[in-house]
Amino acid sequence: MKIARYKKVQRFIGFYTNYFKFHQPYQILVDGTFCFAARQEQINIKDQLPKYFASEVKLLTTKCIIIETETIAKKTFGALTILKQFGIHQCNHKTPVTGSECLLSMIGKNNSHHYCVATQDRSLQDALREIPGVPLIYLHKKAPTLEKPSDVSQALAESKKESCTITESQNAVLKTLKEKCGLPTTETGERRKKKKKKGGPNPLSCLKKKKKSKGSQKQPIPKSEGKIKKRVRVKLPAHVKQAISVNK
Ligand SMILES: [Zn+2]
Repeated sequence: MKIARYKKVQRFIGFYTNYFKFHQPYQILVDGTFCFAARQEQINIKDQLPKYFASEVKLLTTKCIIIETETIAKKTFGALTILKQFGIHQCNHKTPVTGSECLLSMIGKNNSHHYCVATQDRSLQDALREIPGVPLIYLHKKAPTLEKPSDVSQALAESKKESCTITESQNAVLKTLKEKCGLPTTETGERRKKKKKKGGPNPLSCLKKKKKSKGSQKQPIPKSEGKIKKRVRVKLPAHVKQAISVNK
């Protein structure tokens, strides 16, 4: 898998883990249309989906989906055999409903069981995009593809983000409380400054840079003339550098 593609999937998965509490193994509800497309493209869902997610996945289907696929078996040749490889998830439909109805009922209003849905059914996809936190997977030719989180999902994630950040008024209350308790109010700022002083530029990285660029000594060192940088200069005058490069 190409790196860009891998990164994209991981970013989307990260989104669902952060904002909708998804976790491994990811439960993927697979319907007949997806299996039919997989059969046509001759790809093995069981192999390809875990590879694509680069994580553990659990492939699931429901009784209703199997029954629906069975009734149109001639059109969906081969899809049924693929479907039957997966775990059958209880959907509690005593009289079977259509695959898309069944999936929608399992997702419910907010997908509280954290299902992903693998389908090629456009109208089902449209319906699922309206429910926040439902990862959609479809086949683009031979490539399984996790769709970008829907607008509804992103909007909900944004609102969650906002509720996590401290407002100015809350910040003011915190400040007064800290003052009452005798705690320093600018604690974090001080800590950050200290950290910067401690860390400084890595002396080893300075050495390497100087070796690479011969004759670049004239370049002024920007900003801070920290002790470490000065030391490096003293340690490595031009003739020493030349000696090193000759030895190497
Ligand atoms: Zn069902």
